[in-house]
Amino acid sequence: MDLYCVMGNPVEHSRSPWIHARFAELCNQPIAYERRLVALGAFAEGIAAFRREAAERGDRALGCNVTVPFKFDAASIAQHTSERATLAGAVNTLRFAADGDIHADNTDGIGLVNDIERNARVPLAGKSLLRIGAGGAAAGVLGPLLDAGAARVVVANRTVDKAVSLVRRHAALALAHGASLEAWALDAVPGDFDLVVNATASSLAGDAVPVGAQVLRQGALAVDMMYGPAAAGFLQWARAHGAVARDGLGMLVEQAAESFEIWRGVRPPSAQVLDELRARLAAA
Ligand code: NAP
Repeated sequence: MDLYCVMGNPVEHSRSPWIHARFAELCNQPIAYERRLVALGAFAEGIAAFRREAAERGDRALGCNVTVPFKFDAASIAQHTSERATLAGAVNTLRFAADGDIHADNTDGIGLVNDIERNARVPLAGKSLLRIGAGGAAAGVLGPLLDAGAARVVVANRTVDKAVSLVRRHAALALAHGASLEAWALDAVPGDFDLVVNATASSLAGDAVPVGAQVLRQGALAVDMMYGPAAAGFLQWARAHGAVARDGLGMLVEQAAESFEIWRGVRPPSAQVLDELRARLAAA
């Protein structure tokens, strides 16, 4: 059996095992995908144990997804790192090659872009964009948003220095695309964006949306990278101010689809699986 997993701490909430099982079923790929809780500070040991235990059972461990808080650790254990993961400084997908080497990638950003462009049908070329937050997940999405042709990207964060350093790291890419890339403090953000992406954990903390409603142009798309109850506050706020609100479930399925394609060379029907997952969660 070809074996994959998601590693995190906590990890019991992860929808990835269900998503990948459904991809495998629909694409006739004979794989198993498990959930592995890894002790804090022991990511490399977690990877070694996954590979060793699979070999002892006669299975082949071929890759894993990485979630909070290990996205930075994962970047340091790979022998090969994709350009987008290097730029992000964070990794969510590992592939174990036949020669034993580990290849690292980051599919979070392209997952977000694909959800916005393919599922929500909002092209990003020429658009003005506000990204709130500068944490691990936010780092991975900036490059793909610029690659998608956004004309102006503003990064705002509670700790403004983190936004500044993220913007500095992506300055050459922005220049290459002829895009404007700026860092702002949350309380000084200008107005009228076509797209606002919330990549902060503020609603988890029960706090209000950390920017004013002037950021939303009428009819703007407002995406929270979270889903479920954690996204509710931001989505309500966005709708109340004339925006089209979207949660992070589509990004979750689309980043998984990219990982699946990296591992199996097959593109799964992500829009169908997103519809099914939404229906499952609504019925739960
Ligand atoms: P992280 O590294 O912990 O970063 C958290 C961010 O939230 C930081 O920018 C932090 O600002 C900000 N923040 C926290 N509390 C705040 C508050 N009360 N007010 C204002 N800002 C606040 O988290 P992450 O890994 O980037 O993930 C961000 C969110 O995206 C998470 O909720 C995660 O579940 C979600 N996510 C979704 C997907 C998906 O597929 N849908 C994938 C990855 C992540 P400071 O820098 O000032 O601390």
